[in-house]
Amino acid sequence: MGAETVRLDPDSRSAALAALARAELQVLVVGGGVVGAGVALDAATRGLSVGLVEARDFGAGTSSRSSKLIHGGLRYLEQLNFGLVREALAERSLLLRVIAPHLVRPVPFLFPLTHHLWERPYVGTGVTAYDVLGFSLGHSRGLPGHRQLSRRGALRLAPGLKRSAVTGGVAYWDAQVDDARYVLTLIRTAAGYGAQVASRVQVRGLLREGERVTGVRAVDLETGSEISIRAQQVVNATGVWTDEIQAMVGGRGMINLRVSKGIHLIVPKDRVHSSTGIIARTPDSVLFIIPWGRHWIIGTTDTDWVGSKSEPAASRADIDYLIGQANRLLKTPLTRDDVVGVYAGLRPLLAGESESTSRLSREHVVANPVPGLVLVAGGKYTTYRLMARDAVDAVVHALDWRAPPSCTDQVPLAGADGYVALWNARHRLAVSSGLHVARIEHLLRRYGSLTPEVLSLVADEPELGRPVTGADDYLRAEIVYAASHEGARHLDDVLGRRTHIAVETPDRGMAALAEIAGLIAKPLRWDTRQAAREVGHYQAGIAAERASQEAGTDADANAIREAVPDIVPVLSAGEAGGNGAASAGARGRRSWRGTGGKGGVADGIRGRSH
Ligand SMILES: Cc1cc2nc3c(=O)[nH]c(=O)nc-3n(C[C@H](O)[C@H](O)[C@H](O)COP(=O)(O)OP(=O)(O)OC[C@H]3O[C@@H](n4cnc5c(N)ncnc54)[C@H](O)[C@@H]3O)c2cc1C
Repeated sequence: MGAETVRLDPDSRSAALAALARAELQVLVVGGGVVGAGVALDAATRGLSVGLVEARDFGAGTSSRSSKLIHGGLRYLEQLNFGLVREALAERSLLLRVIAPHLVRPVPFLFPLTHHLWERPYVGTGVTAYDVLGFSLGHSRGLPGHRQLSRRGALRLAPGLKRSAVTGGVAYWDAQVDDARYVLTLIRTAAGYGAQVASRVQVRGLLREGERVTGVRAVDLETGSEISIRAQQVVNATGVWTDEIQAMVGGRGMINLRVSKGIHLIVPKDRVHSSTGIIARTPDSVLFIIPWGRHWIIGTTDTDWVGSKSEPAASRADIDYLIGQANRLLKTPLTRDDVVGVYAGLRPLLAGESESTSRLSREHVVANPVPGLVLVAGGKYTTYRLMARDAVDAVVHALDWRAPPSCTDQVPLAGADGYVALWNARHRLAVSSGLHVARIEHLLRRYGSLTPEVLSLVADEPELGRPVTGADDYLRAEIVYAASHEGARHLDDVLGRRTHIAVETPDRGMAALAEIAGLIAKPLRWDTRQAAREVGHYQAGIAAERASQEAGTDADANAIREAVPDIVPVLSAGEAGGNGAASAGARGRRSWRGTGGKGGVADGIRGRSH
């Protein structure tokens, strides 16, 4: 066991902010998505002093809005990009076996064949290459190879498919992850190795000595106070916001990113009769129907996006398109009434020559536009560790400091060590905790060997062992734990990322809201006024989300989402430093949107191409 497991709570955030302001770091990471969190862990485990600041919640950008697959990417095989696929399959294997066996798990897929002649050899060759590339790594962790299926075999696995739409099938395995929880776990692991991490801290400018970048000017969005953070190297890992940071060095951008929107729908499990995930081609991209607990995730779209980067909106057109694509295959058609939740994310794609977005490269780049600044962008979730390694290699090179090579291929994330043994002991844990074994399994898949920390909350306060009213997949203890150990600071952090209540319940968490606010008020030190503000803010966000999903165009959907302020300040006596709620709130809002909100260069609507 390497590092201690730290709590992320309001006190640890204050302590991290104080440390960030105090001494010069070797590395400061801007952006707490999967890439930034990966950079922080890589640097910390090489012995560097590291800080990380994230403008919103950890993982609130693209890294909580993906298809949640850890995959080689069958479609890159079509582009004959074998190197990329092999690299990604190696990462898949590492994540499943060593780094996060509690969070990453195998998922079966069926590729239904729809044409009689050419498709089987074509898909079969692709999937064989996938298997061969995976097996050539020598450790496929028991992911079975693919199987060719007759029409009857395919329909046996997925009886919900239209008979007329299927001539046969190919069954194969990939892996999936709760992307938001994964980022949070990376952050906690990095903090355990000494990284100073703080959410809701936005970088507004760079400190310079001549041409050299020597740190950042940042604002604590919760209080409005400014901090200067000095660092020998600043690593920008802001994904689709990379242009904003490039602009801070006078537009000397070396990375040309294109932003593409992808949306997903969540529907209840009983709406699609299948024992396997389904993947199929669509005219523009790929259709995934992915098992997700008591639900299916259906994705995705691939269209240019020029609206808000912080809250990309799914329009009615996006939703209808996806439902239409799924219904080409499904015997019982889906309707909008089946949709429990919707989310949209933005891909940070490295721009190529006048290609459509789905053909742009998912490979990553690391650049060094001026001394003291490293940019890392592109890639995909699956290969975040390689992106992080390459970025820290660039940092080490620039520091002219003899740091050891990356060791993150041997660093299990918090909750991974001891997970298998605890899983084997789940029946005993059920007896000792008084919870059903199904609950223990749910906890183990979310917290791994940290599950006893959640159970100790229940032991201290048995009421926390009850399910949340209106969101009974989750225990009340998990809600408290989100705020007391996992850095959640607002309702949306809890409902949208620590849990997925916001997209897994048809009312998007409304029935559970008051109870959840009551549970986190104490660890977050909210008074009743603040709790009421938080509830009002969440409700306004959901109302806007619903309205945007009725809008016919991206522009209209975006305008509706943008009208809702984006952050509510936390104003406990200790943290507020005498700021009034209203003024700090207004500052917080203006600040985030200032680098890309309404009227901002990057977030503003500049046209669209749906
Ligand atoms: C629809 C969709 C489906 C996908 N599916 C998959 C998949 O199944 N598998 C896969 O491997 N990949 C997938 N991807 C790709 C993958 O999700 C992304 O490549 C990855 O999440 C990008 O992570 P990131 O850390 O670069 O960016 P982000 O997660 O966006 O992180 C950047 C962070 O920087 C913060 N930030 C921005 N500006 C500032 C500032 N000034 N100060 C401080 N912080 C700032 C933001 O708030 C944000 O949290 C998918 C992407 C999309 C959109």
